[in-house]
Amino acid sequence: MNTLLLASAVVASLAPGIAWADEPVVAPRKVVLDPGHGGSNAGALGSLVLEKNLTLALAELVTTELAELAKAEGLALEVSLTRRADQTLTLRQRSDIANLRGADLFVSLHGNASVSRAQRGFETYVLTPAAVEGIALALRGDQATPRPGTTPQISSVLDDIERGATQWEAADLAVAVQRELRQVRGAAGDRGVRQDAHHVLLGATMPAILVEVGFVDHPQEGRELAEPALQRELARAIARAIMTQLNESPRRSGPTKLAAR
Ligand SMILES: [Zn+2]
Repeated sequence: MNTLLLASAVVASLAPGIAWADEPVVAPRKVVLDPGHGGSNAGALGSLVLEKNLTLALAELVTTELAELAKAEGLALEVSLTRRADQTLTLRQRSDIANLRGADLFVSLHGNASVSRAQRGFETYVLTPAAVEGIALALRGDQATPRPGTTPQISSVLDDIERGATQWEAADLAVAVQRELRQVRGAAGDRGVRQDAHHVLLGATMPAILVEVGFVDHPQEGRELAEPALQRELARAIARAIMTQLNESPRRSGPTKLAAR
């Protein structure tokens, strides 16, 4: 009997009727939502809604929807936001939050804008393979995910391995988001899953996507995106996609999952 079991057996004998440590404890799945921009960085400027306000409203709504879906499925789920207020954060701070919380999925929420103000529609980004392999190297150094019992150098290598292994899951999640958004916004607005070297995704060691829900500066779409009813529908769609992916993806156990032995 190890010390933990011994300790729990002793406590159990003092206080019967409570569940103790020999029952398997299911760790909650973890999702980190990142409301894009914030504080001094307003993001795209719509006439009715600023991107930074839209993303925060969406993140809060997605949190509510996820809680309801998780409850219905009996899934233990922890959802956290990189910011809960109109706050300035660097891109690296956002992915660091996801890494330190040991998130299963990282979803950065954004609204779009175009020079012509004529573009509309929704798209979801994953990293390019070149970005995963190449630019990730530039983020190395003392910025590796802290892992107990490893050096920063080993942590950097483990970060790279995990980042590569997560790309299929990120692509699945991106496809699911586009599919769900199509149900709400129609197939005509589907700009597809795209690849780019978004820096907010580069720092993340779990499957990470960036969702552009629509163009805030388009005369009609901008007006629609300012409506709370549509925001709720978009949030519900994104939450459904996240739940689908959580149900299909392997469980992660946090930032030490590849800790050196
Ligand atoms: Zn943005």
